[in-house]
Amino acid sequence: MDFINYHMPTKILLDEDVVLKNSNLFHPYGDIALIVTGKTSSIKNGSLKDVTNALDKEGIVYDIFNDVEENPSLETVENIAKLGKSQKSNFIIGIGGGSPIDAAKAAGVLINNPDATRYNLFNSPHFKSIPIIAVPTTAGTGTETTPYSIVTDNELQTKHGICQRIFPEIALLDVKYLMFLPEKITINTSIDALSHLIEGYLSSKANIVSDALAEKGLKLFGECLNMIKEKDFTFIVREKLMSASTIAGMVIAQSGTSLPHGMGYALTYFHNIPHGKANGILLKSYLEFCEDENKVRKILYLLTLENLDELGDFINNMLGYVDSVSFNDICSYSDQMVSNKDKLKNHPALVTREDVLKIYNDSLKI
Ligand code: NAP
Ligand code: FE
Repeated sequence: MDFINYHMPTKILLDEDVVLKNSNLFHPYGDIALIVTGKTSSIKNGSLKDVTNALDKEGIVYDIFNDVEENPSLETVENIAKLGKSQKSNFIIGIGGGSPIDAAKAAGVLINNPDATRYNLFNSPHFKSIPIIAVPTTAGTGTETTPYSIVTDNELQTKHGICQRIFPEIALLDVKYLMFLPEKITINTSIDALSHLIEGYLSSKANIVSDALAEKGLKLFGECLNMIKEKDFTFIVREKLMSASTIAGMVIAQSGTSLPHGMGYALTYFHNIPHGKANGILLKSYLEFCEDENKVRKILYLLTLENLDELGDFINNMLGYVDSVSFNDICSYSDQMVSNKDKLKNHPALVTREDVLKIYNDSLKI
């Protein structure tokens, strides 16, 4: 009998006009909201208007922070917190991709603990956040169902997760917001979700609940594979990708991510490679390295692929190659990766620096 330890307390609603239909859900969280979003996309895709209309309807006042950059920095998190503290915000609605929602979670901790500094985000795991409501507009990170917040730390020159676990109270999912997502971002983000499903399925922390979710997510992704190849992103495809991404969040909420995510952070920090692409290009070599042949075979089966070469071709056709990284670079990133104990322990076998170097070397055009 497998040991089960599963916790994912977020209420998830996926529906047309979900924000407007469920505006009453905001009430228990207070009467001063802080909206945290990116620079422009939430205006273009209508999600910001839906949220402000819903808050107006409920008589909840709000402030808007709309300057979260991709891979949000700790400086941005501090700026959000400054606004939230001065306005006495009771809760945050994060709208956008993973960047604004992650920034909202970290800022929520600083708002709830007014004397806390950015360093407490990495050394005070018992600090709580004010409530977070997530309105995702990408289908990739699954942050709406994970307790993680990944921030860019310019002092340490890397991205890493804060130590508090912050599940959003509610995730409000509406596929209509995804219809504005450019092709490239759609592909990069969907491959992020695929990485979560694969890394979560192979994680040392996986159990029968997370495996059942991962298998469902992989199957949904497999059903979209041909349409993704054709870049034919219909409403139905996007709906499946949104479900797969949210399910993938539920998987990694339990099992965490492992080597591809840990190794991808350096590619994003130093080479500006988008998060999904940074993990995705490492996936084939990572799967070649994994010893659990049964699970690797099952992943390919669910994705409707014959073998790992087909997976590699799919990913390279979708993401292109990376040729901006040198051998010296990957030596230094491998040193960094073998000191990342959190990610290493999620891989079910011993990982050496040489293993990491080989995965980088086989994945990139050096
Ligand atoms: P993102 O960085 O949030 O956004 C990427 C781009 O997409 C931005 O230019 C954004 O524009 C645009 N965009 C977002 N929604 C759009 C829409 N519906 N239509 C048109 N454009 C849209 O991308 P992401 O891949 O979702 O998030 C990546 C971040 O999440 C990384 O920092 C990663 O480390 C983190 N992550 C977190 C978790 C977790 O569990 N917490 C898991 C995996 C990854 P605007 O800036 O104008 O909004
Ligand atoms: Fe990710």
